[in-house]
This record gives sequence, structure tokens and C-alpha cells, in this order.
Amino acid sequence: MTSGRSVARLGPAERAAALESMAARELDVVVVGGGVVGAGIALDAVTRGLDVALVEARDFASGTSSRSSKLIHGGLRYLEQLNFELVREALQERSLLLQRIAPHLVRPVPFLFPMTHYGWERPYVGAGVALYDTLGFASGVTRGVPGHRHLSRARALRLAPALKKTAFTGAVQYWDAQVDDARYVMTTLRTAATYGAHIAPRSQVVGFLREGERVTGVRVRDLECGDELEVRARQVVNATGVWTDDIQELVGGRGQIHVRASKGIHLVVPRDRIHSLTGIILRTEKSVLFVIPWGRHWIIGTTDTEWTLDKSHPAASRVDIDYLLDHVNAVLSVPLTRDDVEGVYAGLRPLLSGESDETSKLSREHVVAHPVPGLVMIAGGKYTTYRVMARDAVDAVVHGLDQRVPPSCTDRVPLVGAEGYQALWNSRHRLARSSSLHVARIEHLLQRYGTLIDEVLGLIERDPSLARPLTGADDYLRAEIVYAATHEGARHLNDVLTRRTHISIETFHRGLAVAQEAAELLAGPLDWDGEQVKREVEYFTKRVEAERRSQEQDSDQEADAIRLGAPEIVPVVVPDRT
Ligand SMILES: Cc1cc2nc3c(=O)[nH]c(=O)nc-3n(C[C@H](O)[C@H](O)[C@H](O)COP(=O)(O)OP(=O)(O)OC[C@H]3O[C@@H](n4cnc5c(N)ncnc54)[C@H](O)[C@@H]3O)c2cc1C
Repeated sequence: MTSGRSVARLGPAERAAALESMAARELDVVVVGGGVVGAGIALDAVTRGLDVALVEARDFASGTSSRSSKLIHGGLRYLEQLNFELVREALQERSLLLQRIAPHLVRPVPFLFPMTHYGWERPYVGAGVALYDTLGFASGVTRGVPGHRHLSRARALRLAPALKKTAFTGAVQYWDAQVDDARYVMTTLRTAATYGAHIAPRSQVVGFLREGERVTGVRVRDLECGDELEVRARQVVNATGVWTDDIQELVGGRGQIHVRASKGIHLVVPRDRIHSLTGIILRTEKSVLFVIPWGRHWIIGTTDTEWTLDKSHPAASRVDIDYLLDHVNAVLSVPLTRDDVEGVYAGLRPLLSGESDETSKLSREHVVAHPVPGLVMIAGGKYTTYRVMARDAVDAVVHGLDQRVPPSCTDRVPLVGAEGYQALWNSRHRLARSSSLHVARIEHLLQRYGTLIDEVLGLIERDPSLARPLTGADDYLRAEIVYAATHEGARHLNDVLTRRTHISIETFHRGLAVAQEAAELLAGPLDWDGEQVKREVEYFTKRVEAERRSQEQDSDQEADAIRLGAPEIVPVVVPDRT
């Protein structure tokens, strides 16, 4: 699909070139925000033939898009709210992502739904999952996941021996899909860059260019060096999620879209702490709770509480963590304790402001607005439907561009690493022999890089020491750290340990034990001297320590204050609101 062109890198040289290109001429579109929505918009626009740039203030996906439950799903509970259209659209997207757009990054995942009542509950839940499966079919592509099945309590216990026998009466098992959310965003951006988009992380929009009422571009601060540049574009698209209202303030005026934040936290525990062959979904008073298989771990989440504090580093408190432990322990025969928790992460849902004060009841659907000429705002939605959001945003852009532009084609654009994936997966044993890596390692690499695995193996061929696993995080090879900097846009240690890999939530040391080794591996490609290596390790350590302490606090306010005590290696600009 990339018509024989080589896959773009997002390394330091490419970032510099992207900033230079975007300052040099008037673009068709500049996208603000490198979460999944912004990345999707950049790809949608560039594959319609538009000249596109995207700027991201921090690292790609460092906002909400690396902190989700990592599910590509219709959402069973939206069925209960009778929101069939939303579920149908999301399940159609699930089929597309699983089978065509990113089979290397999106995978089927089974869930067990334990029931707690005899009589009415089985037909009720059964009808819900049957409808869920049917809606998944009602599209041009096949569903891509197996259908549901009913299980007696005894059969459910064979699948999930960890469940307390007295906690349920029987179960239904159904299938959904999961994704490495941070890697998906970065891969979408690499795909957009491959088609010609100019992509720059650590580049913050600090103001808007205006001609009278019309927005004609953005003022961007390169946060790595402090330089400012003007990026002129015929249309600006704001895709900043929970920062939407801040951008609106930079533009001036009241704006048409308001977004509020709701915090959701997740815990990560080792796989052996919960003996189960399947994910589990539980009802809670307000919503649902998932126990999701995640490599050698489980992810448990989530919560849903209003958040009005710092948006860049939402902090999980002791209360949040206890809430999840209490709910999951209600069904486990061997309860989890705080000591079982390897990692904790918190994210903010960008919710469109509505009348209801209960954040879990606010709409997850998206809106697009054109508040002033030259500016498109998009917000709301969910990860699963990012492609639809992107299409709608670019349709609004096209409306503002006085020219004919083809319709969206991203339903037929596989992400880089996707094409030929199945064939390569089938050849994994051969690949293992030729690379002298274990087949389990090859599988892990294929599920992170798809057919771009060749680039990672190429690094190892040139420097065999990169074939060694990291000491203290042996799921990952040293080559993956180098590759994150040379090809995947990582600019700091934190980017690599948190988003290109997930070492910071997958190890009890939370990345501290590998920080020095990883920083030394990054020093070459990122041109760091010894001082910078020291700084990176020091900043990462302070972050982990602040997070650990914040997770001991009883209130959001205390947790936030402690988390904010850790300095940022590249601080963003706080807009002057005087
Ligand atoms: C706890 C939780 C669980 C979830 N689980 C799921 C799930 O399982 N499945 C699902 O489908 N959805 C899920 N969601 C929803 C989904 O994660 C979000 O809808 C989605 O990630 C939002 O993406 P975004 O691009 O709008 O925002 P973001 O990812 O936050 O991206 C916005 C970006 O804009 C950047 N930015 C801000 N200001 C500026 C500026 N001035 N200049 C440049 N850049 C700027 C930010 O740094 C940020 O990277 C979940 C959300 C949460 C919080």
C-alpha cells in the first residue's frame, strides 16, 4: 500500500527536517496533538493527497492514548444503554483493525462474564452478547473474533480456576480485541510520515496566527531548544483531547466544544497471580471492571472519577488502587494485595461536557466543530473509533478548503508493518532459525513491529550485543531500545521505558533497574554526552519515586501535589492567561 516507498523513520534527523519543512511553506493542514485522534487525522489527510504536518507537545501518545484499557471494543455496556449505533460502528472498526489495518498490533481477546443470579440473568446477558456478536458481523468484513458461548459454573471454573466458587452461578464467554495503544499511535504516525506527512514531537502550539477572524496557522515552540516557528496552514485541526479547552482559550472566544476529564486508573499484576486462561469482565455499581491478559501480566481496570487537577500527569491515589483491589478480590479465591501490584497508570477520558454530573453517563461519542474560519475542533469519542473521528475531522477540513479532495480511504490503508504480516507470522520458526533467536522472542517482536521486524533484526546483525535482553526487563531486547530512538521518535528515556516499551508498568522496579543500561543505549542515536545520560536517569528516577509516593495518598489533591513535585525533563510552556 505504500507503493514501494521505504517506511519513514521518525528519528532526530527526520524531526529536524519536519520542523524545517513546516516552517518553509503554507501547508494544507496542520494537526495539533499526537494522540490517536491527531495521528488518525494526519494519516487520513495525507492519504487524500493533502500537504500535512502534525505537532505534539510531549511524546506521541503521552496523553490519554497510552493510558487506556487497551481494548478495541464495542463496549457491552453501551448495549445496555441501547446505544446500538455506537456499538455497531465500533465493532465494524474492530473488524477492520484486526483484519486489515493492523493485524500485527490488534489481537482477539476472550472475556468471561460471570453471572451472579439464577433465572433471568442468563437470558439477559446471553441476548446481549448474541446481539454484540451479530452487530460485529453486520459489516462488509467478517467479525474477526470467535462467537460467544454459554458455560456452566463448573466449566467456567476450569477456564478460570482463580474465581471464587461462591461468587458466581455460571458464565458467558465472548471475544473482543486488544491493542498496544501507545505503539499503535506511533505506528500510525510512521505510516502518515511514509505517505509524506511532517511529524514533530516535543513541539507545542503556543499561539495562533490570525488574519482578522480567520486562523491561518499556529505558533510552535520547539521544546527541545526553545526556538519558535510559525507554521502557516489553510486549515488547523485541534485534536488535543482533554486539552481542548486550553487550546480554545489560546484562540479566544467561548468556543463550541467543551471537554471535561474523568480519571481512570489501571493496575498491572504478574500473570501467575490470577490463574485463568481468559480475561474477565465484572459488573460494578457504576460501570464494569476488566481483568485483561497482557503478555506475562494482567491489566485490571478501571475507575471513573472527575479530575480537575494536572492533566499531564494524572495521579492514582491509594483510594483508586484500593477500589480496584476490593472489586477484583470479591471474585478471586486468593485475594490480591498491594504487594502484587507491579505497575499503576492513570489516564483522563476526554468527555464532552453534558448535563449529567455522573461522568460515567456522559457521551463517548465525538463532535466536530468549525468555530472560526480556518480552525476545526474535534473531541470526545473513544480509541476504537479514532478512524471515524479522523475521517469526520478531515471532511470538515475539506469543507473549508476551496478545492476538490477525494474521500477518506483509510479503511484500505494498512499501517506500516501490517502488509505481509500473516505470511511472516507463519514463517516465524524459519525466522527464529535464521536469526538465532528463540521463536517466542520472534513472536514477541512480530507482535510489536510486524514486518518491520527486519529493521530490528538488521540492527542486531550489525551489532550482535543488541540481541541480549535488557538486564532486569528481559521481555525486551537491547535492540528495541536503540530502534525506539532511531525509528520510532523516542527522544527521552521516559518515552522508551513508558511508551515504546511498557517496562515502567511491567516490572516491580518500574524501570529503575534498567534505566542506566537503557540510557546508555540511547546515548549514541540521540547524541547524548555523559551528563545527559545522568540527567535522564535522574529525572526518570524522580518520576518513579513521585508516582510511588503519590499512590500512598488518600486524596486526589495530595496525590497530585506529590506527583507534580517531580521535574519534567522537557517542561511544556504554561500559557500566560493574564
Ligand atoms: C482509563 C481509560 C480507559 C480507556 N479505555 C479505552 C478502551 O479500552 N478502548 C477505547 O476505545 N477507548 C478507551 N479510552 C478512551 C481513549 O483512550 C481516548 O478516547 C483516546 O485515547 C483519546 O485520544 P486523543 O487523541 O483525543 O487524546 P490524547 O491521546 O490525550 O492526545 C492529545 C494530545 O494533544 C497534545 N497536546 C495538548 N496540548 C498541545 C499543544 N498546545 N500543542 C501540541 N500538542 C498538544 C497532548 O500532549 C496529547 O498527546 C479510555 C480512556 C481512559 C482514560
